[in-house]
Amino acid sequence: MNVLDSTCPFCGLDDPAMTVYADRLVQAVVSTRPINRYHVIIVPRIHAERLPDLPPDVAAAAIHLAQRVGGAIIDAGVPDGITYITEDDLTGQGYNLMAHWKLHVIARYRDDGVRLEWNRHDDPGGDTTRAQIAAAIRRQLAPAT
Ligand SMILES: [Zn+2]
Repeated sequence: MNVLDSTCPFCGLDDPAMTVYADRLVQAVVSTRPINRYHVIIVPRIHAERLPDLPPDVAAAAIHLAQRVGGAIIDAGVPDGITYITEDDLTGQGYNLMAHWKLHVIARYRDDGVRLEWNRHDDPGGDTTRAQIAAAIRRQLAPAT
């Protein structure tokens, strides 16, 4: 993780007209490519490509700011719902087009045509596979000895 990356458009981002909030750790800007109106992006001041790379105080600040921005969007945009979403690009294949971690706060409206496909089939491996996955993640969460 670098503190700043001079090639990254989100490092040193300074666009007061589009900024809804800024402090020393995080800022929130209206998206240039909005999914809907009232699509705000929470952007850490430091360059980190993945959520696990963020220092805990920055991650906490980003979540806290998303809570505040979400509340403000409810009042300002009168949406039917809000989508909070983020992605880590681990292989450079476009899961996160700009490799600077961001958290999107997106107002959602009935019939807005935006679809996240969550209606997936059950895992064909069943509970055995699910338990194996749970164990694998638990091992990674365990403190180093
Ligand atoms: Zn950056």
